[in-house]
Amino acid sequence: MPTILVTGGAGYIGSICVKNLIDQGNEVVVYDSLERGHRSAIDERATFVRGDLGDRTRLDRAFAERSIAAVMHFAAYALVGESVEQPELYMRNNVEKGKILLDACRDHGVRAFLFSSTCATYGEPKEMPIHERLPQLPTNPYGESKLLFEKELWKAEEAWGLRAVALRYFNACGADGDLGEDHEAETHLIPIVFEAALGTRPKLFIHGDDYPTPDGTCIRDYIHILDLASAHRLAMESLLSDRGARSRAYNLGVGRGYSVREVIEAAREITGREIPVEVGPRRPGDPPELVAASDLARTELGWTPEHSDLDTVLRTAWSWHQRHPHGYGD
Ligand code: UDP
Repeated sequence: MPTILVTGGAGYIGSICVKNLIDQGNEVVVYDSLERGHRSAIDERATFVRGDLGDRTRLDRAFAERSIAAVMHFAAYALVGESVEQPELYMRNNVEKGKILLDACRDHGVRAFLFSSTCATYGEPKEMPIHERLPQLPTNPYGESKLLFEKELWKAEEAWGLRAVALRYFNACGADGDLGEDHEAETHLIPIVFEAALGTRPKLFIHGDDYPTPDGTCIRDYIHILDLASAHRLAMESLLSDRGARSRAYNLGVGRGYSVREVIEAAREITGREIPVEVGPRRPGDPPELVAASDLARTELGWTPEHSDLDTVLRTAWSWHQRHPHGYGD
């Protein structure tokens, strides 16, 4: 079975993909700085190398110790609000350090590359649902940084034959057993809703209710991380088996959006708890609606989301938050 190097394998989406890859019989090397990830989220069966993406020497060692067949690249900063406040941080981490990883791939003969991208690369498209051929015009530095790195992938294909798949996630959510969502200074809606339900946060602020949507709050396409993990596995299999395939990008979402208010209402029903809410101002950089057309992933990869109905998403996340009221506790 091939060995896959996973950057950011201690993070929310990375850790679940690592588990999924190992369950399918792959060997995995996790490369993570633990700056934002959690040591206890790393599957015990994986080899762990603690290192920064910008540390070329450490990367070289990780590549040299085993024969790496493919790279899955998750390590990145991923907060829209933070990116608006500190855009240079996003350019450095998500683009410049990513290029160091690509150079290492080139020099170590790794040609198969899976990139954790985002619907934020589309910005605020006029058309909904969003398909892959729509123009990518990001409206925040986070989306911009992910788009710039996608372009690096396409350039690397021309320059030295990299074959990459960019997976453009919509809103990753849900939990898988003991693996769940825990970000320092949490900004994501679903964990915050449950923190408010548990009382570890006094209340939740709705970031604006004057958007041009039916209830005035933003609409997002919530995709369960187990469905993201299966898409990664399928994309990896296609990269490793079809060596003539060109680089490409796929949207990963279910094609159905929920507003912030709908998510809160569903969470109230599932938890049976009060969830104190206050309407606050809009958060800079938030588009009103992001819903995926994911036909391409379904037809080309044979991907079918199976866990992404709102009820399953919220129940798995609620169960994780009840068992981990303080997250991973590190
Ligand atoms: N949101 C909110 N209050 C919060 C966190 C998020 O109203 O405390 C809204 C946010 O403005 C967006 C939606 O919930 O419209 C989803 O935000 P999240 O940060 O989870 O994901 P994003 O879409 O930014 O990737």
